[in-house]
Amino acid sequence: VNDKTSETERFFSKCRENNLKITPQRRVLFEALLSADDHPTAEVMYRRVREKLPNISYDTVNRTLLTFVEVGIIRQAESRESAKRFDPNVERHHHFHCIKCGRIIDFVDPNYDNFDSPRNLPEGLLVLGGRVVLEGICDRCRE
Ligand SMILES: [Zn+2]
Ligand SMILES: [Zn+2]
Repeated sequence: VNDKTSETERFFSKCRENNLKITPQRRVLFEALLSADDHPTAEVMYRRVREKLPNISYDTVNRTLLTFVEVGIIRQAESRESAKRFDPNVERHHHFHCIKCGRIIDFVDPNYDNFDSPRNLPEGLLVLGGRVVLEGICDRCRE
């Protein structure tokens, strides 16, 4: 993720563009997500912001994150489980999934950005883009 100041600027302008009020709750949630390196679920985010926002409900956290996705402040990451995973990094990047702890780690590789579409795709499909997802065991879990 880019430096914090420009990300906060991006947050402010996206909120303004979409007539979203910049409430303390939304700000805290965005900043907590920005400093996360694991693409957390709403449940994990709820636990993380409770100290700063003791009165927030899980529902509000979940709804706020979904609103952020809707207006393009953050993205939803592909998930191996049913719970949605949230991604504050809207720049082009790829993902490494740890099969042990579930952490999703960002990486950038220009070679993966422009790969050719598979020749044997089912007929009629129009490819607009793609992301590479690698699976493995992360540094923390290997220790
Ligand atoms: Zn791991
Ligand atoms: Zn990501």
